Amino acid sequence: LRRNPGEAEFHQAVREVFDTLGPVVRKHPQYVEAAVLERLCEPERQIIFRVPWVDDAGRVQINRGFRVEYNSALGPYKGGLRFHPSVYLGIVKFLGFEQIFKNALTGMPIGGGKGGSDFDPRGRSDGEVMRFCQSFMTELYRHLGEHTDVPAGDIGVGGREIGYLFGQYKRITNRYESGVLTGKGVAWGGSLVRTEATGYGTVMFTQEMLRTSGRELDGLRVSVSGGGNVAIHAIEKAQQLGATVLTFSDSSGYVVDEAGVDLALLKDVKEVQRGRAADYVARRPGARLVTDGRVWDVPVDVALPCATQNELLVDDAKVLLSNGVLAVAEGANMPTDPGAVALLQESGVLFGPGKAANAGGVATSALEMQQNASRDSWTFEYAEGRLDEIMTGIHDRCAATAEEYGAPGNYVLGANIAGFLRVADAIVALGVI
Ligand code: NDP
Repeated sequence: LRRNPGEAEFHQAVREVFDTLGPVVRKHPQYVEAAVLERLCEPERQIIFRVPWVDDAGRVQINRGFRVEYNSALGPYKGGLRFHPSVYLGIVKFLGFEQIFKNALTGMPIGGGKGGSDFDPRGRSDGEVMRFCQSFMTELYRHLGEHTDVPAGDIGVGGREIGYLFGQYKRITNRYESGVLTGKGVAWGGSLVRTEATGYGTVMFTQEMLRTSGRELDGLRVSVSGGGNVAIHAIEKAQQLGATVLTFSDSSGYVVDEAGVDLALLKDVKEVQRGRAADYVARRPGARLVTDGRVWDVPVDVALPCATQNELLVDDAKVLLSNGVLAVAEGANMPTDPGAVALLQESGVLFGPGKAANAGGVATSALEMQQNASRDSWTFEYAEGRLDEIMTGIHDRCAATAEEYGAPGNYVLGANIAGFLRVADAIVALGVI
């Protein structure tokens, strides 16, 4: 705490993992001798830089850029870039820390990292976003490389931003190094299914959890928070599997659509118009926008928080429980407050932590890297099949680990321990570096 003052989200993420590691550390003293936990608290490298750019009015704007290269025991640093005004070092470190375990859990050769900026893309023109991305990459490029550090998207960073970032990387280095960024457009080195992967994977994971109690998503009512990449594709996959999705949200409020969210309209509003929840409601008879409540008040069987950290609190969990929720899975990173997680788990709700449930995004990024390395491009069906296998594998690994450590059904413990074991073994094997 003294070394990382004021980084509340980072402390929360570390505590949440370390709280579950007691049985592992007792069983494997070599991790204590090798100071694995201490090493996991200290990123290998933290880069903070100034990002100057010129807005449409000709004014110079200054933002702060970050890249935390957290742990590379298993492979090059891998993790997204977040552009949101709330970004500061504590957010980037929490996300980078989580990313280590998530990436380990996928079974793929990728280390953990995260980055971003306090730049707010909302309300900015394409030209402003492009100039910002170019300036950001003008510093970041020297730290990247397909064998070194491979960023992707996150909040505020989608296909448009990855395009501008990749363009500037290519220009500065004079290298068409596709494997340096993932989430690229399919025409220029991207992978089919990468856009959909996080949301799809979250729902695939949910389906696997439900099956352990003899249920399926088909016919269930689902609430989703967020209205961005993860939320939209979670809605899409849940609908494909026969569920009715009643909600989505953005920072202006949440939408209830009793007839089920109209996905084509939502995509048009969010992806084409870059509009707000109110724009959806204006074009959708029967849907309503709630600006002074909680999306978790809507009675559902399954809740999928897909917006941001700490968006599902203890009181929300109480409401979900009183409405008979069966499963909660985290499409976002750390959206559920630790007290809410404990309450849901004690009450017998199937709870899928983000490290496991939203790992489909980074896993498909690793598939994009594979395609880039072999100069190949797979079909949608093949890539989705691989994603499905990966999500089932992650689910089964978490479940088996939870069982082995005496906590059957505890996916939080299973994910933390399974991820930790893989990365800890690599850290010990590589010596004190
Ligand atoms: P997007 O930027 O596409 O969408 C984010 C959505 O969440 C928007 O609707 C946004 O609303 C809302 N939101 C963001 N911050 C806040 C906030 N502080 N308060 C209220 N609403 C907020 O991001 P993604 O969908 O890519 O990411 C969502 C979550 O999923 C994040 O936690 C991210 O870390 C996680 N994730 C993403 C992956 C990916 O592949 N993209 C992979 C794994 C995890 P508004 O537009 O009004 O701000």
